[in-house]
Amino acid sequence: MKSANFDFEKPQTLEQAISFLAASQGLGKPLAGGQSLGPMMNMRLAQPESLIDITALDALRKTEETASDVTIGAAITHAAIEDGLIPDATGGLMRSVAADIAYRAVRNRGTLGGSLVHADPAADWINLMPLVNATMLAAGPHGIREIDATQWMVGTFTSALQENEILVAVRIPKLSKEARRSYYKINRKPGEFSEATAGFLIDPSRNICSAMIGATDGPPTHLSRAQELITELRSGQAGPLAHAALISAGLESDTHAYKLHAVAMLRAVSLLDSKKGEMQ
Ligand SMILES: Cc1cc2nc3c(=O)[nH]c(=O)nc-3n(C[C@H](O)[C@H](O)[C@H](O)COP(=O)(O)OP(=O)(O)OC[C@H]3O[C@@H](n4cnc5c(N)ncnc54)[C@H](O)[C@@H]3O)c2cc1C
Repeated sequence: MKSANFDFEKPQTLEQAISFLAASQGLGKPLAGGQSLGPMMNMRLAQPESLIDITALDALRKTEETASDVTIGAAITHAAIEDGLIPDATGGLMRSVAADIAYRAVRNRGTLGGSLVHADPAADWINLMPLVNATMLAAGPHGIREIDATQWMVGTFTSALQENEILVAVRIPKLSKEARRSYYKINRKPGEFSEATAGFLIDPSRNICSAMIGATDGPPTHLSRAQELITELRSGQAGPLAHAALISAGLESDTHAYKLHAVAMLRAVSLLDSKKGEMQ
């Protein structure tokens, strides 16, 4: 199928883009890499009256590094992250996650911001960003609004972004040198979306120990009692704490999805304790 007709705008500044969006009264959509929006338009699941191309906006393409964090423009592509063209606050984890998104052709165009706004539960940044305590920076008619990554995804394919806002950047705190972190996704073959995702982060000097399950029916689940859960999983068994974690993520006992997520947690803990768990 082909998309319905639409108008096309190519603003030169963020302010212009926000004005175009406001003028469209909810019927226009920002266009980033087009890797999700394009197929949705072709299937007529999305029929925006106008597309506002945001890929050339400087505000969305820049990266800033300070002593404590890295702020990555929303229009930075997965490929740029994979290639190490921007500083990695997670000591190489973002780079390896980027390399496992889809295929290189998709990564060349798909963007960090587009993926986060699309809010597919099976996608990668939507699950990783809350684990690493990121903050989203959204620009609207009244300026910049900060949204904690744990509050970002409010439902399947729904983010906390309002229809008159543009995601400008994502700020990611730098992990300490001694931090350990892991992210594991199960997919049938490289390039496919995840069927089960799990991740862990231990950063003792910042007093952080967190755990996540993703690729369920909704937002990723931040798991409580992460340290005890890690200890249990290190025994090689998904015991009572893992069971509680899986249930809290909305997975029904003994289903295929439950079992896949249990395996994802076990493998994510193995990664955490391996060389790959170390900061690079
Ligand atoms: C074959 C295939 C396999 C894939 N596999 C994976 C995978 O394994 N893991 C994974 O994570 N993803 C995967 N994806 C999705 C891919 O990562 C897309 O790049 C991503 O979901 C959308 O990014 P985009 O830049 O193309 O956004 P677009 O498609 O341009 O936009 C997506 C949505 O976000 C909105 N939007 C985009 N940017 C902004 C912004 N800055 N502010 C406000 N709204 C914005 C658009 O209006 C639209 O609603 C796959 C895609 C394909 C086609």
